[in-house]
Amino acid sequence: MRKKKYLVSFPRLGNYVYPIYAMLNRIVDKEITDILMPKEMTSKTIELGAGASPDFVCLPFKYNMGNLIESLNQGANFLLQAGGGCRYGYYAEVQEQILRDLGYDFTFVTLLEPEGLDVLKLYNKFKLLNKKLSFAKFAKEFLLAIDAIRVLDNVETYIRDNYMYEVKKGSFDKIHKEFLDEIMKVTNLTKLNLLKKNTYTKLKNVLIKSNTKDIIKVGIVGELYTSMEPYSTFFLEKELASLGVSVKRYTTVTYLLFIKKWKIKKHIKYANKYIKYALGADGTESVAHTLELIDKGYDGIIHIKPFGCTPEVNAMPILQKISDEKNVPIMYLTFDGQTSMTGIKTRLEAFYDMLVMKREKQNNVTTLTSVKQAKETNTLPYKKDDYEFQN
Ligand code: SF4
Repeated sequence: MRKKKYLVSFPRLGNYVYPIYAMLNRIVDKEITDILMPKEMTSKTIELGAGASPDFVCLPFKYNMGNLIESLNQGANFLLQAGGGCRYGYYAEVQEQILRDLGYDFTFVTLLEPEGLDVLKLYNKFKLLNKKLSFAKFAKEFLLAIDAIRVLDNVETYIRDNYMYEVKKGSFDKIHKEFLDEIMKVTNLTKLNLLKKNTYTKLKNVLIKSNTKDIIKVGIVGELYTSMEPYSTFFLEKELASLGVSVKRYTTVTYLLFIKKWKIKKHIKYANKYIKYALGADGTESVAHTLELIDKGYDGIIHIKPFGCTPEVNAMPILQKISDEKNVPIMYLTFDGQTSMTGIKTRLEAFYDMLVMKREKQNNVTTLTSVKQAKETNTLPYKKDDYEFQN
């Protein structure tokens, strides 16, 4: 499929692929470079990735490997990898070596340095794809992509927070789809600001239910990759939506890049009854956000992590202590290449029914519907495929 000197590709992570793809298209020299959107995740992705990865390595490594192999098989010869953060910071070198051992020939570029983002070094890496790229142009396009990611996160967070409360089914999905189409076409800050303004207006105009007391609310905390790549959790948020559960999660790229660093001390202070030091990766956030969600009246918490994720394993006994003391249920889900979708679905339904029973007992009412009753009466609020937001 490669017609030019370079065919560039990168691993998938939720809908962030759209602003990244758009930015690459704006900065490369089109005479010599094409951009390949990484394939949608399928079971083949994890099969390929797991087959080429050491068994013990954590799940994001395997998914990334699957994405990269699929792109290489389509002719990609210039691969971008994010790098940075936890063990993830060491993935790139190992992945590059494994792929070379498998016989692929490519250029491999890691975007983040071990100490974080270095814009000058990043610029020099992108110059490989466009010798005429000036620093000013690169900085402009890079900042535009960052802004686009920020807008994407704001739009998706708003939709996630309000999805269960829309009066007309599909209102948010329609806006979300239009937004994703448009974000690919944004070429400057003025257009992005216009898109942002129009999308926010549309979102605010969606009619929201006035009576929301019968809706069960669940917070999702845990490791970043499983939080942001829906395929890795079998579309957990989608499954919850099909049960009528309102979902809150804080972890987004904007959070990780711009908020996390400044909030860590606040988080430790807020959760000082349970933690004295940072737990590494997203462990501190898992604890602090759990407390915050409980304080905000969420019915339950779902903690997610890839198999073997040490920072999240460290957070789990603390979360259990919080759960016992605050009397709020926490369900722990661990994902690896072998996890079964049916198993996850069954556990989610059981967790939901437990939250319903707990709420009814607390309020001394029986107004909520169990999953079994909803299935029998065909009153589940969303069919899974109706929910297009997490795609
Ligand atoms: S946070 Fe967990 S899953 Fe992510 S790189 Fe670190 S150990 Fe692996």
